[in-house]
Amino acid sequence: MEAKESAWLNETENLFRENLKGISEKDVRFYRLEEFWRNVKRLDEFSDDCPVCREMHAEVRETIAGMNDAVKHPGKRRRKFDRALSTLASHMTEEHGFLPPYYYTYRWSALGLPAGALVGALVDLVLFHGQKWGFIVGGTMIGMLIGYVLGGRKDNDMRAKKKLL
Ligand SMILES: [Zn+2]
Repeated sequence: MEAKESAWLNETENLFRENLKGISEKDVRFYRLEEFWRNVKRLDEFSDDCPVCREMHAEVRETIAGMNDAVKHPGKRRRKFDRALSTLASHMTEEHGFLPPYYYTYRWSALGLPAGALVGALVDLVLFHGQKWGFIVGGTMIGMLIGYVLGGRKDNDMRAKKKLL
């Protein structure tokens, strides 16, 4: 994708850099500020076609202006900052198809676990009259493993398509 540098994005980037000063690396990671900045760039990219992205411009600018203060001081402003970040991230997820890393790995492993247990329980019940508990344990592990492998593959797909947050 071609990098389209809008005046808004340039000014916002300056403001972002200004407000990043003095924020520790630990906080940058904790608040996922790099992800936040990627979402801001996406917001600007999508704003031609997406009215929600367009509308968020002003609010995002405001959020960045208060970023330094919000990170350093707990309280009302920090809660507002947290909310603004998650609003932006969920819009990118729901409307533009971006996902957190390992989204499918976690999700499908968690689904594979009860699904495998169920299959194991059925095998045990139907073939062994509920006497072979090992099938439930084995099914649980195999189900989780299958979910993990397939989910990981799907996550790699998303990464290749640059659809990670
Ligand atoms: Zn949008």
